[in-house]
Amino acid sequence: LARLKQGLARTSAKLGGGIIGLFTKRKLDEATLEELEELLIQADLGVKTSAKLTANLARERFEKEVTSEEVRQAFADDIAEILTPVALPLTLDPANRPHVVLVVGVNGTGKTTTIGKLAKQFRDQGKKVMLAAGDTFRAAAVEQLKIWGERTGAPVIAGPENCDAASLAFDALKQAKAEGADVLLIDTAGRLHNKAALMDELKKVIRVITKLEPSAPHSTVLVLDATTGQNAHAQVETFREMVNVTGLVMTKLDGTARGGVVVALADVFGLPVHAVGVGEGADDLRPFDANSFARNLMG
Ligand code: GDP
Repeated sequence: LARLKQGLARTSAKLGGGIIGLFTKRKLDEATLEELEELLIQADLGVKTSAKLTANLARERFEKEVTSEEVRQAFADDIAEILTPVALPLTLDPANRPHVVLVVGVNGTGKTTTIGKLAKQFRDQGKKVMLAAGDTFRAAAVEQLKIWGERTGAPVIAGPENCDAASLAFDALKQAKAEGADVLLIDTAGRLHNKAALMDELKKVIRVITKLEPSAPHSTVLVLDATTGQNAHAQVETFREMVNVTGLVMTKLDGTARGGVVVALADVFGLPVHAVGVGEGADDLRPFDANSFARNLMG
């Protein structure tokens, strides 16, 4: 929890600190509401969600004296309500051996790192984990995944540079099945500048693994970088056109004041948020808890 608080420090300084900076006690008039709405938008809660939160506040307290503490409390309550239905960890169905997790997202968002952190968590739970280096286009991504594999004791299935991602995924699943792995985490490419090629590649990966296991992938996790703010919306839309995204992981909350984007995404898309990244280390993937996230956002 301390990690989450620390991770959200920049957002909460802007948002919670911003509200405190506006007033200590003041009548909640139109001008104050507008200023509050602006603060929410600046912290990337999005226009729609920010308007909703201020409208809720106005409904209860318009023209009444409010303290900044009461406003932060009211916002935190409403935000927790928005986040509660989406705060769902990535759970493995024991009926799947292995449970296949396809991890997608734009390059640099933290896919490989998130796979490493997830591998660590599943290993800590005593699961047999295997990793597939499906971002075959970038040698660095393969190397990085191998390092995570060594660090966590999870075998990494990789091919030669530029090998076909789909056949690599096929081989990895075959091996994971043969060895009775609990979970197979598949890394993928994220070259969004060539959307058509990326879509073809992802679809082919899915088509090929479905041949071995018709129910796979059992989860398709989209990794989003919180520092990109509202851009994350476009990424969700784009990847949903390509694959059946079943959940999100939001990374780099530690490096940004734009942590409110998680609330906006939850409100707009309602997709499960499995976890949040608050640093580069193996233990810096935190479970997504609606209440503590909402309170920490407000400082
Ligand atoms: P990929 O291209 O999507 O696989 O992204 P990487 O996993 O290579 O991550 C890109 C960079 O972001 C690396 O330097 C990671 O260490 C860093 N990174 C990933 N997640 C986080 C996070 O939650 N917080 C911070 N501060 N850095 C992160």
